[in-house]
Amino acid sequence: AIAGSIYLAYGVYELRNPDEQLVPDPSKKNLVILGSGWGAVSLLKKLDTENYNVTVISPRNYFLFTPLLPSCTTGTVEHRSIMEPIRSIIRHKKAAVKFYEAEATKIDPERKTVLINDNSDIKGDTSTTEVPYDMLVISVGAENATFGIPGVREHSCFLKEIGDAQQIRKKIMDCVETATFKDQTPEEVERLLHMVVVGGGPTGVEFAGELQDFFDQDIKKWVPEISDKFRVTLIEALPNVLPMFSKQLIDYTESTFKEEKITIKTKTAVKKVTEKTVEAEATGPDGKKVTEVMPYGLLVWATGNAVRPIVKDLMSQIPAQKDSRRGLAVNEYLVVQGTKDIWATGDCAVAGYAPTAQVASQEGAFLARLFNNMAKSEAVEAKIAELSQTLNLQPGDTAAIAKEIETHEKQLRRIKDIKPFHYTHQGSLAYIGSERAVADVSWLNGNFATGGQLTYLFWRSAYLSMCFSTRNRVLVVLDWLKSKAFGRDVSR
Ligand code: NAD
Repeated sequence: AIAGSIYLAYGVYELRNPDEQLVPDPSKKNLVILGSGWGAVSLLKKLDTENYNVTVISPRNYFLFTPLLPSCTTGTVEHRSIMEPIRSIIRHKKAAVKFYEAEATKIDPERKTVLINDNSDIKGDTSTTEVPYDMLVISVGAENATFGIPGVREHSCFLKEIGDAQQIRKKIMDCVETATFKDQTPEEVERLLHMVVVGGGPTGVEFAGELQDFFDQDIKKWVPEISDKFRVTLIEALPNVLPMFSKQLIDYTESTFKEEKITIKTKTAVKKVTEKTVEAEATGPDGKKVTEVMPYGLLVWATGNAVRPIVKDLMSQIPAQKDSRRGLAVNEYLVVQGTKDIWATGDCAVAGYAPTAQVASQEGAFLARLFNNMAKSEAVEAKIAELSQTLNLQPGDTAAIAKEIETHEKQLRRIKDIKPFHYTHQGSLAYIGSERAVADVSWLNGNFATGGQLTYLFWRSAYLSMCFSTRNRVLVVLDWLKSKAFGRDVSR
């Protein structure tokens, strides 16, 4: 039973140590995967690595379960609980996979090479080199959009990586401790305790909800003297938050925020950020624009994605990418337009879907199937060629061989009949604070929109089941129990 549960827990994974894996075979093609996020890891998970010499390159030597990143900013979940080392992912593969912790800085599609840079703090004698590829998968994601707004990069925190969540967690407590410093002026206390979130997409909404929870459930108890001064404001340029959710759930989110005392400022676009203030332009009901300057202690910037420099550079080298703006235009098999041996998945690819984890992971799984099939069809083609030669050499005994060739040809047609990538939307989920969540779910051919505490339980179980490994799942549950029983840790 124990062995069975371990097997189930790891899914189709087999437990192996690297020295039990098949070694690289120079006769096989070099498949290079850039990235260690949703697209890359879901490809890796389903890829039969014995068909290729697989190399993974990423500046991050772990997969990050991004849906729970907002929970890390307040310590509801500890950061290590949502990280899974790439080395532990690749050790389950039948054939060894090479991993380089490095940032890919340039792709040369003519010479078929990728230039990589060691991005760690400790450098060896070699810190820049080239990796050749026969097939390349680009799954590098996107960077934070700032729209060139002055002061954003210098003064705000983003919420994309583990380091961002850690920085936010530290800054929240920094603001609280500084606000309670002896002889602090009332204006400065008010500024320090004003937490501003820019961007009313799911990232901004989930973070604002988690932050208000942290204050209501913990900070307020430990530091009661600031209880009437702590404020969270969410700024959104559009007329409402969460535009991808249905109207009913948008209204529910906005009314829940009101109850939680989170201020939402819609139709308000941030134009400038300084060390202590946010300058925004609000459009009134009469269409008049008013500029508002808001002092803040913590500023979190969550206004969506922008194209990474390596992707921009590749696009500039391929004429077929001339008109693409938001990333690499791909065809229905995720091949980068204008190339034959480069594929792209996730936030760096433009395939007509929203830049979500769900899309990236389905694209990665599709590529794994495609590559597994390509290898299988090459093997069958080689077999047919070999049999045809035998047929020529042994003209006497042809019937049996011809039949065998026919069987293989049938098999080949079946393998080659791969349908284009098709995305199946399973729904959208977001946590909105005070143990409530919203969900737009497609189920049994219907769409369901629900919000509230039951949805929160659904949100918890859905995210738990989506965690990468059993280890992650156990750690997240323990973190939830720990923060419920003892409160969140308010140390800086
Ligand atoms: P987003 O693109 O969804 O939202 C960013 C918001 O910022 C927009 O509504 C935009 O109008 C606003 N904005 C832009 N510039 C502004 C300015 N100067 N001032 C004020 N507001 C401004 O970004 P996100 O929330 O980071 O999400 C990115 C992607 O990831 C989306 O596709 C999203 O669906 C997905 N995602 C999904 C979930 C989930 O399903 N729970 C969670 C996080 C992210």
